[in-house]
Formats: sequence, C-alpha cells, structure tokens
Amino acid sequence: MILVLAMSVLSLMGCRTSNLNESNDISVNASADNETTAGNIQTITIVHVNDVHGYVEETDTAIGYPKIAAFIDKMKAGDPNTIALDAGDTFGGSPSVSFDQAESAAAVVSTIAFDAMVLGNHDLFLDLNQILKITDTLDYPVLAGNISAADGGEDPFGAYTIITLENGLKVGIVTATNGVEGEVVLTEPVESLQAQVDEIKSQVDIVIALVHLGVEDASGNTSQLIAQEVEGIDAIIDGHSHTVLTEGMVVGGVLIAQAGEYSNNIGVVEITVIDGKFDSASARLITKEEMTDAEEKEATAAALAKLVEKRDIYLNQC
Ligand SMILES: [Zn+2]
Repeated sequence: MILVLAMSVLSLMGCRTSNLNESNDISVNASADNETTAGNIQTITIVHVNDVHGYVEETDTAIGYPKIAAFIDKMKAGDPNTIALDAGDTFGGSPSVSFDQAESAAAVVSTIAFDAMVLGNHDLFLDLNQILKITDTLDYPVLAGNISAADGGEDPFGAYTIITLENGLKVGIVTATNGVEGEVVLTEPVESLQAQVDEIKSQVDIVIALVHLGVEDASGNTSQLIAQEVEGIDAIIDGHSHTVLTEGMVVGGVLIAQAGEYSNNIGVVEITVIDGKFDSASARLITKEEMTDAEEKEATAAALAKLVEKRDIYLNQC
C-alpha cells in the first residue's frame, strides 16, 4: 500500500497545474471572410476530458465519472453529431486506479460513451499486457499513433479512427502521446501525426488530433508544435500539462483545447463545417460548479460503487 501510494505520488510529480490563455483569439475561422451565410452549414460537438488520474468520484472539486457519463449521454441525445474523447492519463496516478492495475477503473469507463481515447504517459506505467487486457474490455478504441513495440513486433495500439456522424461527416481522429520507453518505443509526434493525416485525409472531412502532449513539456513536443508543424489538422484535443484552457488556445490558426485535470472540468469544442470543409472552432469548459445539480448515469455509478468497495477493502488491508 505504501508502495502504491508512493508510486502514485511519484508518478504525479512533474505534473503541474497551470492556467494558460495566451491568445485573445478564442475561436478559429478558416473562411476568407465571415460572410459565409451561403452553403451547407453543419456542426460537430466534441466533449472531452483529460488527466482524470483516477479522480473517479465526485468531490468538492471533481465532477466524477457518473456525472461525466450522464453529461456525454445528454449531449449525444441533444445532438447525435457529438463525439466524446478521452485525452489520456485515465488509468494511472492515484490509488483508485492503481490498487487493481486499473481493472475496476476500466469497468467504470466502459459505461461511458467515449468514442476514442489516447493513452497518456501515466497509463503507460502499467505493464503493456495489462494495458491491452483492460483496454480490450472497452467498446471504443484506445489509441497511440506514435508507439511501437520495443521488440519490433506488431504495433500494440491503433493510430487513428474514423467516425462517421449522423450528418454524414467523416471525422478522422489521429493520435500521439509521450512517455518513458521500455516495453514500447515512441516516434516523434509531428512525424507520426503527419503520416496519419496523410493516410486518412482523402477519406475524411475533418481531422482532429487527440494527443497527450500538453502545452508545456520539457521535450518541446507540445501541442503548439503540432499546430505549427503538422499540415491538415483542424483542431487539437490535448492532455498531459493539466492546463485549464478556459476558451482554448489558438496557435497557427489551430484551436488547442484542454480541460485541466482530475475531472475538475469537462471540455466542449464546437466545430462548424461549411460545404463539407472546416470553417471554425471554439472551446469552452463546463466547470464542477456548473455540474453541481447534474444527473449521474446509473450504470457508471454502479460500476463506481464496485470500484470504491474493492478499493476500500484493499486500502484497509494495508
Ligand atoms: Zn497527467
């Protein structure tokens, strides 16, 4: 137990909370002018979380998974052209996930209508076989485009997924992460993401980069770099730096969205598409305060109750 806690504390060191809103431009508009009233206008909504790190229950500051799950269901019921994304660090970083190598946490998130997840560096602290075991139980793809097996075998995770929305739009989700190499090796995110975009661009209308890179990282492999260097990305859903981007950050004309940490916020990005082409994007956060009276999803609450019971037995034994 002490070891688990110590590892959790250690694993969280280096993660910083910050609040960065460097740009006053809170939305991106790709139109030559704003008078684009003609044409077929469609919208896509992206609901996103990142760096939940096992903050699974509602607390004074955490929204918790049951309310996140219900929020996603409500958004999808209100507009089926909604995509739910997890930007990683879901299965590592606190006793609620580490006590059983995230098996109960996987059972909880399996009740949430996510469409894709990118692995974060803390997820990669689990053994590769364990990650594959728990992610295999999920209905949505768990991706990491720039990860290869160190033994030269087949790539352990998929790189991208293509989602066809009810309005007919095809959205490509390309991914990249960072982490410590061991059982896996990582290639440069810029290179990996460009290759993914090039592979899918003829098949999709919109490309979203779902990354666990952060807007601050000593490696320099940040989402800002992705926005500047990778051609063909329409918006970036980010994690890793635990940054509260209240209205996103725009770099090189690309919106970067991130929702802080520990289920303190839920991110919402709205994308407007005109005549099948990206037009504009904007970001906002749903805060814990706004979720005070929100409903919980029953299935998620039930899975969470099992996690809490097992975790508390485990912790009391130590
Ligand atoms: Zn994190």
